Amino acid sequence: MNKLPGSAIVIGASIGGLCAARVLADHFERVTVIERDVLQDGPRPGAPQANHIHVLLRKGVDLLEQYFPGLVEQMTADGIEPFDFTQDLRWLQFGDWMPRHRSGIVLYPQTRCSLERYLRGRLRAYSNVEILESTSVRALLATPDGRRILGVQTHDRHGDGGAVTNRLANIVVDASGRGSQLGKWLSELGFSPPEESRLPINLCYVSRLFEQPETARDWRGLWITPLPPDKPRGGAMLGVEGNRWIVSLFGYEGHHPPRDEDGFVEFARSLREPDIYEAIKDAKPVSDVGVYRVPDVRWRHFERIRDFPAGLLVLGDAWCYFDPVFGQGMSVAMLEANLLNEALHQLDSLEAVTQAWTASYLRTGAQWLQGLWFFVTAEAMRHPHVPGERTRLIKLAQWYVEELYALNHEHPEIYQEFLKLMHVQAGPEFLLRPDIALRLAKRAWQQKSEKGLGTEALWPASRVALGARYAGRMLANLVVPQRVGPRDRICHFDTEVLWKPDKTLGWFVRDALRAQGLLSEASEVRRFLEYWLPVQGLGIAKKALIEFSYNADEPGLGFMLYGDNGTVTRAFREYTRQLGITNEGVERSVAICETFRPSDLGLVRAEFKPGGPTRYSIAASWHFDPMRGHSGFDEAMSRLPERFRAGPFAERVKTHASALRTEYYPLFLGLSFLEDGTLESKMYLVRFDANRPPFQPGSELWRFLQEMGVSAPELERVRQLNALLWEHSADKMTQVAIEASEFQSQPKRVNLIYCGIQTSVVLEAISRFGYPVSSKQSVRDFERMMQTDRAKFVAVRVGPEGLSPRLKLYKHALFDFGDLSVVEDGGLGPRDATPAAVKDVSDVCLY
Ligand SMILES: Cc1cc2nc3c(=O)[nH]c(=O)nc-3n(C[C@H](O)[C@H](O)[C@H](O)COP(=O)(O)OP(=O)(O)OC[C@H]3O[C@@H](n4cnc5c(N)ncnc54)[C@H](O)[C@@H]3O)c2cc1C
Repeated sequence: MNKLPGSAIVIGASIGGLCAARVLADHFERVTVIERDVLQDGPRPGAPQANHIHVLLRKGVDLLEQYFPGLVEQMTADGIEPFDFTQDLRWLQFGDWMPRHRSGIVLYPQTRCSLERYLRGRLRAYSNVEILESTSVRALLATPDGRRILGVQTHDRHGDGGAVTNRLANIVVDASGRGSQLGKWLSELGFSPPEESRLPINLCYVSRLFEQPETARDWRGLWITPLPPDKPRGGAMLGVEGNRWIVSLFGYEGHHPPRDEDGFVEFARSLREPDIYEAIKDAKPVSDVGVYRVPDVRWRHFERIRDFPAGLLVLGDAWCYFDPVFGQGMSVAMLEANLLNEALHQLDSLEAVTQAWTASYLRTGAQWLQGLWFFVTAEAMRHPHVPGERTRLIKLAQWYVEELYALNHEHPEIYQEFLKLMHVQAGPEFLLRPDIALRLAKRAWQQKSEKGLGTEALWPASRVALGARYAGRMLANLVVPQRVGPRDRICHFDTEVLWKPDKTLGWFVRDALRAQGLLSEASEVRRFLEYWLPVQGLGIAKKALIEFSYNADEPGLGFMLYGDNGTVTRAFREYTRQLGITNEGVERSVAICETFRPSDLGLVRAEFKPGGPTRYSIAASWHFDPMRGHSGFDEAMSRLPERFRAGPFAERVKTHASALRTEYYPLFLGLSFLEDGTLESKMYLVRFDANRPPFQPGSELWRFLQEMGVSAPELERVRQLNALLWEHSADKMTQVAIEASEFQSQPKRVNLIYCGIQTSVVLEAISRFGYPVSSKQSVRDFERMMQTDRAKFVAVRVGPEGLSPRLKLYKHALFDFGDLSVVEDGGLGPRDATPAAVKDVSDVCLY
C-alpha cells in the first residue's frame, strides 16, 4: 500500500494507542506514539487498571489476528492456553449458571500487562513506528483558526525540568484514556468543552494475584455477576500466565471490597455463590492488593463539537468508557482503531484530511457507540443508587436482556448467537430477530397469566411451558410418530386406558393406608398431601398426579409428586420449616436443587412406614439431550457445587454413564439426599429393543453388574427374571437406574425397570424367583387399590449380593382433588358422595 508522505502522532501507548499506531503504520510514512510512562513489563502509573482482571472479547482477538498476524499463534506457543468462553468459564448470570458447552469462542487469557507487552513487541517491528516513552503531551498545535491540527506540544519527563518540544503531524489521535485532557486542550484552542453523558456508578475493584494450586477443576475462570438491587457484589477470576490466578472482586455503592487479606477473602465468601471463595481461601497470594475506583461511566461527545479540527481523532477510553464489569473497553478501543483504518482507506492525499473527513470518522464511531452506551447504562440503572430516569425504553431493555438470558438456557442455538453479539462478532440486529421477539413475548405472556392467578409464590414458574411441551409431544406422536425420538416415545409407552370407577383421593389414600396397616400415619399423610397437591404443576386444574410406590414385601406407601424444580425446592424449604425438620440433609438438598434450573424436573418424595421414620426428600433431575447424546452430562455436572463436581463422586457417576454408553442412552440424572445428608445419585438410562431382552451375557449391562460383583449364578437369575418381565411388558422399553452414594466406590444397586407389566406376571415372578410369598398379598392389594391388573413400572433391584428380595410396583394416578376432605379419625376420606375421577395416566413425562 502506498503510504501518505506525512506523519501521525498517537497520544498514549496503551491498548487503544498501540492499535491506532498499528493501523496508521499502513497509511503514513511516520508514526510516533507518545507515552507519558516508562513502558515496563509490570503495571505502570498511566494504566493502573492493569492490576485488575482483563478479558479481551472474541472480536478483539479477531482484530488482533487481523492486524498482527501470527500473534495468537505466538501467544499459544508461549503457553497461553486457548480458553473456550463457555466451556472453560463458569458464569453466574442473573439467577443461574450459564450453560456450558464448547462454543468455539476462543480467548487467550492473560494479564493486561502481558497483552500490552505483546502489542508493543509487535509494533516495534515496524520501521516507520517510533514509541517515545516518558514523554507527555501538554497541548495541541493547530492553525490560528483552530480548524486544522498541526501536531502536539510535548514535555520530556526524562531527567529534571524536561524539554518542551513542538512535534508536527498531519494527524493526531488521542488515546490517552479516561484521564484525557483533550477537552481542556480544545478549549485552549477556543472550542467549548464537549458535552458529556455521564452516569455515576460508584464501583470499586480490588484485585490480587494468587498462585494456582494443583487441584483438579473443570473450569479455568469464574465469573459471578452482581444481581441488583439486592446483590451488588461480584467477582471474577481467571488463570493467567505464570500459573497464577488473577482475582478481582468488585461492588457498587457501599459494597466496596476491603483491601486487607482477610477482608478480601471474606468478601469473596459474601458473593452470590461461594465458588471464588472456595477457590482462593487456601490459595497463596503472590501480589499486593490493587484498588481501582470507577466513579462513573462517561462519554465525551467530541462528535458534537462544531468545526472540530481536521486531523484530530480520538478513540478508546478518552472518548467513551464503560462499566468495566462488562469487559468491553479494550475491544471497543480496537474496534475504533478498525474504524480509523476504514476511514484512512478513503484518504488518497494529505489534503484529504479535512474537517469533513474527521467529522465522518467521529460520526461513524458515535453511531456505533450509541447502541452500546444505551445497553450499558440501562444495565447500570438496575442498581437503585444510579440516578437517571428509568424510562419505558430502559425498562424494556432491562427486561429484554434478562429474558434473553433465560432463553439462552432453553435454546442452545440462540445462546450461540447471543454469544456472538456479546463478543461483538455480530451486530445488534440479532436482538430484533422476530423469532426471538416471539419467544420472549410468549414467555412474558406465560408469566403474566401465572401471576394473574393471584396465587401464592408457590405456583410453578413454567406450568404453561410444561403443558405446551406435553401437548406438543402428544401431537407429534399422533401426527408424525415415525419422526418422534425415543425420548418422546417414552411418554407413551403405556397408552392403554384403564377403566376406573370414580373415587375421591381421600377415599383412595385411606384405603391404601389401611391395606398397608398404616392408618397410624394418616395425619402425617394428610398434612403431606394438603401441602403438596396445590404446589404441584397440575394444581391449577385441581388435578393431582401422584406416583405411588408399593413395596411388594413389606408395608409401606410412597408418594411422589412432580413439578418444576424451582417450585418444588422452594416449597420443600417451607414444608420442612413448618414441620420443624432442620438437619443437614434438608439444607444440602435445597442447596443442590438450587443449582439446577428452576425449569428442570423436581420431585418430592415421602415414604410412610408403620411406626418407622417418615422420610421426605426432594430431587431434581437434569435432562440429557438425546440430540447431543452424552454431551449434556458435563454441562449438567458443571452446575453442581464444587465439591461434587470434580471429586470422586462426579467421576463415579460419569463412569456409570459411559459404561452403558452404546446400548443405553441417558435419560436423566436425579440427585437427592438421605436424612443424614449423604448425597445419592440416580442415573436413568433407557433402551428400546423389540427383538430381544436387553440383558444378555456379554452385554454392557451384564458386564456392569459383573464389575459390581454380582456372581455368575445370580447373573443368570437376573437374566431369567429380566426375560420374563420384558416379555410381558407393554412396551419393550427397559430402564436402568444406577443408584450411587457419595461415599461408596461401587453403585449401591441397579434397578431394572419394566413398564406396563401385568400383575399376574409379577405374581409369577414372586413364585419363580424366591421372593417372599407374603409379597403376593401386597400385589393383590395393589391391584385392588389401583383397580388395575397392570403396574406402571416394576422395579427389580440388583446389588452386589444379587437380586434383592424386594420388588417395587409403581402406579401413577391422576386425581381430582377439588374435594380433598378430612375425616374424623385424622385421615383422609370421602366427604359425602362427591365422586371425582381417578384416572390412570398414560403419560407422566412432565419434564
Ligand atoms: C478495573 C478495570 C477492569 C477492566 N476490565 C476490562 C476487561 O476485562 N476487558 C476490557 O476489554 N476492558 C476492561 N477494562 C477497560 C480497559 O482497561 C480500557 O477500556 C482500556 O484500557 C482503554 O484503553 P485506552 O488505550 O483507551 O486507555 P488506557 O489503557 O487508559 O491508556 C491510556 C494511556 O495514555 C497514556 N497517557 C495519558 N495521558 C497522556 C499524556 N498526556 N501524554 C502521553 N501519554 C498519556 C497513559 O499513560 C496510558 O498509557 C477495565 C477497566 C478497569 C478500570
